[in-house]
Amino acid sequence: MPSTKFVIVIPDGAADEPFAALEGRTPLQAASIPRMDQIASEGIVGRSRNVPDRFLPASDVATLSLLGYDPERYYTGRAPLEAAAMGIELGPDDWALRCNLMTIRDERLTDFTAGHITSAEGRSLIEAIQADLAHSNVEFRPGVSYRNLMIYRGRPGTTPFTEETVTDPPHDHPDEPAVEHLPRGPGSDMLRALMVIGDLELSDHPVNLARIKAGKPPANAIWLWGQGKAPSMPKFAQLHHLKGAIISAVDLVRGVGKLAGWTRIDVPGATGYLDTDYAAKGRFAVQALESFDLVCVHVEAPDEASHEGRHQAKVEALERIDHEIVGPLRKALETYDQWRILISPDHSTLLRTRAHDRAPVAWAMAGTGLARSGKAYDEASARLAGGPLFDPGCRLMERFLDLSWDGRGES
Ligand SMILES: [Zn+2]
Repeated sequence: MPSTKFVIVIPDGAADEPFAALEGRTPLQAASIPRMDQIASEGIVGRSRNVPDRFLPASDVATLSLLGYDPERYYTGRAPLEAAAMGIELGPDDWALRCNLMTIRDERLTDFTAGHITSAEGRSLIEAIQADLAHSNVEFRPGVSYRNLMIYRGRPGTTPFTEETVTDPPHDHPDEPAVEHLPRGPGSDMLRALMVIGDLELSDHPVNLARIKAGKPPANAIWLWGQGKAPSMPKFAQLHHLKGAIISAVDLVRGVGKLAGWTRIDVPGATGYLDTDYAAKGRFAVQALESFDLVCVHVEAPDEASHEGRHQAKVEALERIDHEIVGPLRKALETYDQWRILISPDHSTLLRTRAHDRAPVAWAMAGTGLARSGKAYDEASARLAGGPLFDPGCRLMERFLDLSWDGRGES
């Protein structure tokens, strides 16, 4: 049997628009990314619409699509995916909600990360809120940094939330007035009350007093959103007969991987932020290829750079992904008989708006059986090269895994 390996690299939020401060180029065009360009050139470039119209352009929906799962069928909310990643079981009447620790200043959504608060600090704060609610059916669970969860343990027929419950992701509304984005619809009274309890517990908590003293933004508020019940998805191995592994520092992405039945590989030094250890991710991914058929590496840094409006940081993140992750993986793949590599962001994150965008993303893939495009990897060449457009984007995965598909005849 020939050895066949697949690699997926997800530079989160990498796709963008031409940006004035980058001399009218997109970050992918401005960055020096010779290894990704080589993949585009020796293989194909194309686009995928990973966010169907009725969804917000968020990583959860977009990652499901990218891994081949139709969000129309499988998406139940963001927080349930994160709960899966954290090993939290949800019963049939339970709901999970994302609980951001964040900074609200002048009643505006100032910083949805609370200055990228450490996980240890976050844990103390979340535990303080939980202590206040010890006898309710609500559980606050600490996660990574500002990304924590609230679980509502429901009883049959008593669920306070419905499809009509509306919550807003704070990262899509930087600096906007908080009051315009509070939860609405069924169950929102309870959520607003919990957010008030959060304010009370957090404002003079020792962790925050110490942060203020050190000149750091305090985590003076919680923000509840992304609610949903547990999804049920067929395992990736069932669908494609491949054993997969995922490397990501972000609970949400790990959660999608976990529901797909992939093994989660933890990399020391992976932070989910700009200071992540790129080289370690590359090394661990190369190593994982020995025992898995498919290895997926997700890097959050380009998305975070866009949210912060830092174009140079975004360019640098792309260059480091190219050099320290794509390069070693591309080289390692050559030692196997058959292989394919896919570079694809889940969604776009625009420097201009500092928010996610629903436009189709550009991807590049190379390997066994694919035609040669001779193109570079960027948004314009994916759009203009006459490459395939997958709409819905979930159809890309099947083609990527099909070594008899040469990259033509799909749009
Ligand atoms: Zn994302």
